[in-house]
Amino acid sequence: MKIYLSDEVKTVIEQFAAYGYTAYAVGGCARDSLLSATPKDWDVCSPATPEMTKEIFKDFKVIDTGIRHGTVTVLVNDKPIEITTFRTEGAYSDRRHPDFVSFTADIAEDLKRRDFTINAMAYNPAMGLVDIAGGQEDLKNKLIRTVGNANERFSEDPLRILRALRFSASLGFKIENKTAESVLTLYPLLGDIAAERIFAELRLLLCGENLYYVLSEFTDVFCFLFPEISHSFKDANTCTFFGEEMNLSPSQIFEAVAAVKDVFSLRAAMLFSAASISDAEKIALRLRFDRATTGRILNLLEAVNNPIPTDKPSMKRLINSYGFETVSDYLLSAEALSKVLKDGYADIFGRLVGARVDFEEIKQKGEAVEIKDLHVTGNDIKKLGYKGTEVGRVLSFLLDAVIDGRIQNKKQDLLDFARRYSSD
Ligand code: ATP
Ligand code: MG
Repeated sequence: MKIYLSDEVKTVIEQFAAYGYTAYAVGGCARDSLLSATPKDWDVCSPATPEMTKEIFKDFKVIDTGIRHGTVTVLVNDKPIEITTFRTEGAYSDRRHPDFVSFTADIAEDLKRRDFTINAMAYNPAMGLVDIAGGQEDLKNKLIRTVGNANERFSEDPLRILRALRFSASLGFKIENKTAESVLTLYPLLGDIAAERIFAELRLLLCGENLYYVLSEFTDVFCFLFPEISHSFKDANTCTFFGEEMNLSPSQIFEAVAAVKDVFSLRAAMLFSAASISDAEKIALRLRFDRATTGRILNLLEAVNNPIPTDKPSMKRLINSYGFETVSDYLLSAEALSKVLKDGYADIFGRLVGARVDFEEIKQKGEAVEIKDLHVTGNDIKKLGYKGTEVGRVLSFLLDAVIDGRIQNKKQDLLDFARRYSSD
């Protein structure tokens, strides 16, 4: 068994070896290498204490990431490698950190504290792969299974319940029966978990490719996380979408969530489609979504109440109201939903192809959609003799005319047309 290691990880493992320590690439990076995927980041573990590790890497830049828990980050060729001392952990009584951490010299002990079999493998080029829990077998069979008893492992740290769903969604793996049973029994323990930890996993979970399976098999978990909209996960619901009332079944919502582009705010907005804006805001605040994400979700939920523009001027007005980013999200949502509903609502979605063409053309040509795109300024208008709030009204009047194609966005045309403005 030979697996790919980055040059930086090789350097770290060799540096440890020079001091007599056997270090391993561990966790997600070992898993991803075995799947022939490129690891997002590299974690290394070794029996050296954090102090010893700092000594071994004294010629490198070292950051104390969590020295109490035995983690330091070493920069090799400017790339960060997290190095953790082999350790065992106590329970997570505060649901944030283990009660105690004790260092050990035994790699097997370290692997046993890890959450899933596929995450509990370690690789060293000389020692080969250490797989204490059948991780390779589960990788082959595409299964998420806890290391040890699922009920015990989920009770120790309930965030693992969400992590099981996250890995299932992102890797496209099924959750093994006993682990799945335990997820469906113990999910209320997620109520004790800090919002930040939930949000971090939820982000990754909702962007997974295998989301439909997770949403439909583990619906109760989502009802628990989002009680405000749990009704729409259980029964068909009427939602106002694109200016029309639509009756959507839970599985249609789940399909649409999985069909929309894998951007968290888009998928969350689709999942919350039956929520009022204020309920969606409540969820975002409770789970501490960052402000940018919350704004993007709420804007989109508001935008999807608008009918799909039938001509270019109405597309420009939609962009004027919501901005390019939200209208792009709006079109992606409509496209995903139309795929799911197939022939249903043909009258609404029939306009979609044309709306997409208009949107791309407006964007590409930089056509005017707001006052600052006009080729005149407030000062130009003042020079014509308009004063105070009238200036703004004249500019809006010009923008309307440009959007409708009655005049061109050229300075002289705009000034001539402005002279025709009358306040009544
Ligand atoms: P990704 O590629 O998405 O980063 P990952 O497997 O590296 O996936 P991380 O959250 O970065 O996931 O965690 C690194 C490793 O630490 C995991 O592979 C697992 O072995 C272990 N781990 C992380 N969180 C927990 C936890 N809550 N309980 C037990 N082990 C955990
Ligand atoms: Mg990782």
